[in-house]
Amino acid sequence: MPTCQNCYAKWAWKETLKGSFSIKNTALICPYCNAKQYPTAKTKKLSFVMSLFTLSPMVLNMVFPLGYLTIVIMLLIGVSMILISPFLTKVSNMEESII
Ligand SMILES: [Zn+2]
Repeated sequence: MPTCQNCYAKWAWKETLKGSFSIKNTALICPYCNAKQYPTAKTKKLSFVMSLFTLSPMVLNMVFPLGYLTIVIMLLIGVSMILISPFLTKVSNMEESII
């Protein structure tokens, strides 16, 4: 779970998840001090790998035709990724470049 680098408060799972869904910008707002916090480069890389993993049943479908099961598996992986993502999120005061 992320810890705010401004006030060092540990964010709750629900708060982190809520923040991750704000489409407006990449910054997450600390629910305790309202400071802008940015996901670290490692967090961004991890979420990229997780989205690739979510899409992996599509590749599997090319080898073993699974039909509608592909969608079901993708949904299951996608939902579990969303549920575990707050545990893997780390934030920093500055926006980090992936490279
Ligand atoms: Zn804070």
